[in-house]
Amino acid sequence: MKYKLGIDLGGTKTSVVVLDQNNQAVYNKRLPTPASNYAEILKTIKLLVNHAQQAIPALDAQTIGVGIPGALQQDNSTVKNANTQILIGKTLKTDLETILQRNVIIANDANCFATSEATDGSAKGHALVFGVILGTGVGGGIAVMGKPWAGPNRLAGEWGHNPFPFHDAEAKHRPCYCGKSDCIEKIISGPALSQEYFEQTRKHKSAKQIADAMAAGDPTAIRLFNDFYLNLAKALSTVINLLDPNVIVLGGGLSNIAEIYHEVPKLWGAYVFNATGKKTNIATKLVKNKWGDDSGVRGAAWLTDTK
Ligand SMILES: [Zn+2]
Repeated sequence: MKYKLGIDLGGTKTSVVVLDQNNQAVYNKRLPTPASNYAEILKTIKLLVNHAQQAIPALDAQTIGVGIPGALQQDNSTVKNANTQILIGKTLKTDLETILQRNVIIANDANCFATSEATDGSAKGHALVFGVILGTGVGGGIAVMGKPWAGPNRLAGEWGHNPFPFHDAEAKHRPCYCGKSDCIEKIISGPALSQEYFEQTRKHKSAKQIADAMAAGDPTAIRLFNDFYLNLAKALSTVINLLDPNVIVLGGGLSNIAEIYHEVPKLWGAYVFNATGKKTNIATKLVKNKWGDDSGVRGAAWLTDTK
């Protein structure tokens, strides 16, 4: 097989990529996701695959990898845990196989992200990679030896809805849409930063605008980002305790904050399990993604790699 074909079904955009035998992207296209209409989602994917086939007549991929913001049930029958909620309970794999006349491999988008970065991204060649999407939500995915690790419950890496660890006793409780409170996602996502900024200043700013304000010397923004580095360090320390990954790679909008990569590793050692009482050196590397917004769709294409 000469080409690999991947689809990333995101909450707002759906992308296709074709990778050639050198893993160069030779075709890329994005369309808006019709997130409230399942039949239109299927049509959008079919359209993207048709466009790719027209652009690359030699495209020979008989299997397509598809990343979704959720996971399949253990028996592959239907979708569960999708934050594009129209997908929940839908027979996505068989529906896509029917309309595309190809085999379809579906995986969680954060697992696709981790796989992309572990294969030919900034965690290339590392045995155990934890990928984190830090954006509107907080998702996690695991790649082992360059392959996604979904787990028997298809829950591996679902760390954003674990309780936030080492939480201050006096911190305000943050209810989450999942029914619990104080999930990691409620503390370190973009909306969490915006909420804190609003509560302290009564001004609405996106996470990106707060980052710009930090760079311009806004004391509230500086303080909030210092809290954010500490909170991210606390949350990642539990990943290190549990998985001890070689590399943690960050994606999503907040991964563009350059300070994260030197501030967080200074802080996480205080929370990683260590009974010596002395400062220990944490060998896990914290890195920014290589492929940006394309990482998810590249990882979907890598799902079809049989090597
Ligand atoms: Zn939650």
